[in-house]
Amino acid sequence: MKIIAIGRNYAEHAKELNNPIPTTPVIFMKPDTALLKDNKPFYHPDFSQDVHHEIELVLKIRKEGKHISEKFAADYFDEVGLGIDFTARDIQSRHKEKGLPWELAKGFDGSAPISNFLPKSQFADLYNLNLKLDVNGQTRQDGNTKDLLFSFERILAFVSQYITLKKGDLIFTGTPEGVAAVQTGDHLEGYLEGQKLLDFYVK
Ligand code: MG
Repeated sequence: MKIIAIGRNYAEHAKELNNPIPTTPVIFMKPDTALLKDNKPFYHPDFSQDVHHEIELVLKIRKEGKHISEKFAADYFDEVGLGIDFTARDIQSRHKEKGLPWELAKGFDGSAPISNFLPKSQFADLYNLNLKLDVNGQTRQDGNTKDLLFSFERILAFVSQYITLKKGDLIFTGTPEGVAAVQTGDHLEGYLEGQKLLDFYVK
């Protein structure tokens, strides 16, 4: 399986990092070794002093697809969950300045905690889902998928022009504003429509 992630998919988040609002989706990938499941602790890496949390809605791909049309794209995912796109912001900033790729900032071990997945049919409107992240009991991110710049269907259509999607692939769909650094000892709790799906510590 592979993890494909979308950058700058909420305007307020693009602005908080002084990035332009994109006109086509910004894509990057994480290796499968980035996955962290079952609310296992996240071990803060020594190579960064500024690892940021980014809570995101994650889609699970249901069947293989290439050149998917936007019209039929909804049929290619049937489950959604929450993920954290942990980002070594200091490394990313240095690489952005030099126009270098982001993999070391985004793809390190444990940089993709994911929750259990729920059938999308459980939700009345995928474009009105609240995503909330509390750190040590205080709300840091509180966003809604109604503010997405690129829809899930647009993302699948766009990505699958270049990269074949396969069953079990995960799509991180971008984070709302409020990203900030995590510290050793922090307790992260992620909620989707009020339901706690992520609950883990930084060690
Ligand atoms: Mg992200």
